Amino acid sequence: MRAALLSGPKNVEVQDVDEPELMAGSLLVEIIYCGVGGSDSEAYESGLLAAPAWFGHEWVGRVLEVGPGISGHFPGERVVGAVSPPCGSCDQCRAGLGQWCKSSLEMILGADPLASPHGAFAERIRVDARRVTRIPEGVDNRDAALAEPASVAAHAVVRSNMALGDLVVVVGAGAIGCLLVQLARLNGAAHVVVVEPDPFRRELACDLGATAAFGPGPEAVQWLAKHGHCLGGDVVFSASGDPEALTSAVQAARLGGTVVAVGVSGDSGSLASADLIEREITLRASRGYGIADVHRALELMAGDRLRVSGLIQSETLGLDDLAQHFAATAKSQPGPPKHLVAPTQAK
Ligand SMILES: [Zn+2]
Repeated sequence: MRAALLSGPKNVEVQDVDEPELMAGSLLVEIIYCGVGGSDSEAYESGLLAAPAWFGHEWVGRVLEVGPGISGHFPGERVVGAVSPPCGSCDQCRAGLGQWCKSSLEMILGADPLASPHGAFAERIRVDARRVTRIPEGVDNRDAALAEPASVAAHAVVRSNMALGDLVVVVGAGAIGCLLVQLARLNGAAHVVVVEPDPFRRELACDLGATAAFGPGPEAVQWLAKHGHCLGGDVVFSASGDPEALTSAVQAARLGGTVVAVGVSGDSGSLASADLIEREITLRASRGYGIADVHRALELMAGDRLRVSGLIQSETLGLDDLAQHFAATAKSQPGPPKHLVAPTQAK
């Protein structure tokens, strides 16, 4: 079986690997599509991974075999890789903090005992049955590949505590940013303003419901001063891999506003604590997602209220295209932000 493995900084190799072995509590899944995420690009640059299975974690697949001791799953079922409900027995769960369940987090990172020794840039993987979620009818396979980033965005909106009629700003209109635009609208934002350097992505964000979109610079803050009742965003999402994104987000927030740092690692650039203190900015972090966020995202997609097809590049990559894709991504690629890999696609 073939898999694309990260073997060091800027080194992706397609290798023949052992077929995943079905174990008690696990499923064997054939990968239909795996999205290339920002964290995959970061891992490509650094060569560092939380676990081998983290490289290629935005996947949709079909269950091939069901391991012993599992009920509720069957061969042929379409599933996405997500996260388990809280385990109930780790330190966090016993303390009543199930949203930070240790084993759930390990599963998101592909660091759990049943994870394959590679991610889903592979023809087949083994997964803990507790972490897969069935795809509702009405969500096709390509769109379902966006379930994971949509769950990240849904979690961020829940974490933001945004209120009906809020003026929302989204810094960065990659896949997560474009999903945030739509989810903020669905959650009652009066306006969503986007800050994004790429003109294609600005237009995409406006097609998906943004009121206005601006490149980096003073225009967004000027628009907010003119149109906002409060000289800035009530809630500002920082959803870009740019180290200065968090600083830009703080600058776009109103006095007493909220900034949400969304699932993007890296440093905080030139952000100083005084930037937060002087205007009493509330900084909220949003890491990953919970099982409720996955259900929210999939149900909104099934109801055609969260539109993701416009975020996906029409051309699908094969495993052999990945190395070249990552090398080119450093120069930024035009068009929709999300690339899908079909691991069984011929070269
Ligand atoms: Zn737990």
